[in-house]
Amino acid sequence: MITIQGKGVSTGVEVGPLYFYRRQKTEIKTYTVEDVEAEWLRFKGAQAIAIQQLEKLAEKTRAEVGEEEALLFETHQMMAEDLDYEESIEFIIKEEKMNAEEAVSRTSVIFAEMFASMDDSYMKERAADVKDVSQRILSILCGVVQGGIDSDVPVVVAADDLAPSETIQLDKSKILGFITAYGSGSSHTAILARTMGIPAIVGLGDSLKEEYEGREVIVDGGNGAVYVDPDEDTSVHMMKKREEQIKQRKLLEELKGKTSETKDGHAVKVYCNIGSPEDVHAVQVNDGEGIGLFRSEFLYLNSSTYPTEEEQFEAYKKVLSDMNGQRAIIRTCDIGADKQIDYFELPKEENPAMGLRALRISLTRMDFFKTQLRALFRASAYGKLGIMFPMVTSVWEVRDAKRLCETVKKELEAEGIPYSENVQIGIMIETPAAAVMSDRLAKEVDFFSCGTNDLTQYTLACDRQNNDLGRFYNPHHPAVLRLLKMVCDNAHANGIWVGICGELAADLELTETFLAIGVDELSVSPRAVLPLRSQIRSLTMENKEKIVESLLNDFAPYI
Ligand code: PEP
Ligand code: MG
Repeated sequence: MITIQGKGVSTGVEVGPLYFYRRQKTEIKTYTVEDVEAEWLRFKGAQAIAIQQLEKLAEKTRAEVGEEEALLFETHQMMAEDLDYEESIEFIIKEEKMNAEEAVSRTSVIFAEMFASMDDSYMKERAADVKDVSQRILSILCGVVQGGIDSDVPVVVAADDLAPSETIQLDKSKILGFITAYGSGSSHTAILARTMGIPAIVGLGDSLKEEYEGREVIVDGGNGAVYVDPDEDTSVHMMKKREEQIKQRKLLEELKGKTSETKDGHAVKVYCNIGSPEDVHAVQVNDGEGIGLFRSEFLYLNSSTYPTEEEQFEAYKKVLSDMNGQRAIIRTCDIGADKQIDYFELPKEENPAMGLRALRISLTRMDFFKTQLRALFRASAYGKLGIMFPMVTSVWEVRDAKRLCETVKKELEAEGIPYSENVQIGIMIETPAAAVMSDRLAKEVDFFSCGTNDLTQYTLACDRQNNDLGRFYNPHHPAVLRLLKMVCDNAHANGIWVGICGELAADLELTETFLAIGVDELSVSPRAVLPLRSQIRSLTMENKEKIVESLLNDFAPYI
């Protein structure tokens, strides 16, 4: 047995074969061919496989997500068989005697440019589709395994690191756990793992070796250990631990339908963080009382081109109607930093965490922002919506964003499209500037939601992605907690409510502190709802003053 140690970032014990995630790398060679008929048939073979793959993807999407989403893959199928597209490839192979890869790759460029130059926005978007389809055919021609899980049985997925876009596209039914050489607990992939309720371990470094591929491993997301070829004793011990966790989970089940209030009746809302409309199911299963953060950027990450107003509207509408009147707070697109998307064509930055990201992008690309706001307000007619802006630092940013909301509402009104007048507008408090200015910002909005992942990063000047920073990245730091208290005081002085939606919200060691400083809502991954409710129900508010006092004056351990 080999034991390797990393950092557990999503709890749970699982056992299964280890599988290394493979990234798609297609190196295209260009050469001339003698036997053009054989080359043409080689293309036809790859095209047939691509169509089969797309058919399967459409079926799976229809079953798991919905008809609308499945249409994308049907469009891709049609493109792969398009006669003009085929003719161009045939010409390059048969007349110019070039190899199939060169023919597909050149045709892809010609067609993408043609679509991109069209006036019609629907046709413009087809440029990304033709590139996507061509890439699929090229991968098949080059014998490259698509990034994904090519296994019939569920596996523990290993990788050097996983981008959020890669994680979200994996077949969840095939994943027992994630283990990575790099990464950190507050990275978005770790957050996704927690949302999905899958054990995850990061920072295994060089000890995660490719030679372990296919071998049986046990992952313990609680203590960060991975056991390769576990011995009998370890297997027995870990299986017991797994059963224990399942039992614990069953106990928590009894808290479903109960209130999230302290023994002396102080109530706090326990909401959920989600990344896609499908996660609403997990919110309901875990008895979340609302959605405190829908990271809408995952819609963008999961797409090869900008999601249209219609696509976004359908996604938001689904979340709101599935929540049956419970509040759902949807955060506008928070792209940038570790969430990079090629089609945004963002300039390369030295310091992306401090660069053009989140609301800053929305405010510099008003068209794209307006599309999202139109979709959001249209969806507001179907439930109880809150809209929240990420990465605010100044009052003017909020005012500009709100002004655009007003424009959008006026437009919808003129078009006779219904929307709700009761949409709450809020901001994330993720920067020290926003926390310090929260007295002013509170006058602009209906609520605050503290993003402690970023607030910790910016307050302590510690990159949240950098696992080597270890104890320096400490969200319990009094500087962070004092800022949170300041934000709560300023929110309440101005009559608005305040929540926490960063990972810290689920930290049971701090629940009492959060209640003492007056946090009204805690938004956590769905699996953390019942443990948090259990913690809240075990507390009283007796020590409130003492806790606040020690937060302000007694932070000796940290000096
Ligand atoms: C945060 O920063 O705490 C937050 C909730 O936003 P994200 O993790 O998506 O950056
Ligand atoms: Mg953030």
